[in-house]
Amino acid sequence: MPYAYDDQNIFAKILRGEIPKDTVLETEHSLAFRDINPQAPAHVLVIPKGPYVTFDHFALEASVEEIVDYTRTIGAVCKMMGVQPGEGGAGYRTLSNAGDDAVQEVPHLHVHILAGRPLGPMLLPARN
Ligand code: AMP
Repeated sequence: MPYAYDDQNIFAKILRGEIPKDTVLETEHSLAFRDINPQAPAHVLVIPKGPYVTFDHFALEASVEEIVDYTRTIGAVCKMMGVQPGEGGAGYRTLSNAGDDAVQEVPHLHVHILAGRPLGPMLLPARN
């Protein structure tokens, strides 16, 4: 089933300027802003401006220009945060939740960039 984009989701409202955001970086096709409920000392969300629900949706349907812009924006934010291991930073984690199993709360693609403390194992141990 193709993705249906809900334009009433909170990030769509942020993109339309209907609710406030704490902007880190804005480009032609992307927006980076601080997470309202940070899970690490530094926690930034990067979203495309286009109506994409998940990473796979974006990766398969976005234009080359959008994909390049979005990928470069994630890199630029890592640089601004000073977390690049190759530049003496202590590292970071990127993650993007998609769908029910991953507990995606907002149905607009977002990559989390988390940094500023040891981030522990990639996933919680399985409960089954
Ligand atoms: P996810 O569970 O991957 O969909 O993550 C959604 C993220 O959006 C959470 O980390 C929330 O804290 C964050 N969030 C929700 N509303 C806002 C908002 N108005 N401004 C910034 N971050 C938000």
